[in-house]
Amino acid sequence: MSEPAAATPTRLTVLAGPTAVGKGTVTAWLREHHPEVWISVSATTRKPRPGEVDGVHYHFVDDAEFDRMVAADDLLEWAVVHKLARYGTPRGPVLEALEQGRSALLEIDLQGARQVRERMPEARFVFLAPPSWDELVRRLVGRGTEDEAERERRLDTARAEMAAEPEFDVTVVNHTIPAAVEELVELMRS
Ligand code: 5GP
Repeated sequence: MSEPAAATPTRLTVLAGPTAVGKGTVTAWLREHHPEVWISVSATTRKPRPGEVDGVHYHFVDDAEFDRMVAADDLLEWAVVHKLARYGTPRGPVLEALEQGRSALLEIDLQGARQVRERMPEARFVFLAPPSWDELVRRLVGRGTEDEAERERRLDTARAEMAAEPEFDVTVVNHTIPAAVEELVELMRS
């Protein structure tokens, strides 16, 4: 006997969008308010920011360890982001979460989302968009964690990322974090 529709394996959801649109904040809110959603912890070669916890926000690894993960084919996808550091999704935990029937979310950049689409086309691809380009620039500058050159680099990346919206299955506009999260969770349930 086949199970009712509600018990079918939950889909993998990939959340991407331009720099500073608020993906990290959306993910943090989701982690706090929706513990039923499994969120992938990426590996990265960048240094932790204040408040970031190894194994919670990222697995902070050195170049040698990242090389090892790539060589062992441990990563579902990986990319160099902002020409600065490597980021990748450990494959095993994602597959385990899906096998357990959990709703799983990857919050990754556009290059990574494209790789996942090739490998797991059944995933749902959600584009997190800012209310407007001006608002995105405001958020990017407002964050104030980067110097001028770094901000320019991130703006360049953001322009290219905004142009990728049509590649996605659905767009969620990040007017406010709680509303964007609820929309995302609704999508993950549907
Ligand atoms: P941040 O350094 O600000 O935490 O993240 C920088 C960018 O890296 C964000 O756009 C984020 O989506 C992306 N990112 C985080 N983890 C991964 C990952 O595992 N793979 C890829 N491709 N991008 C990631």
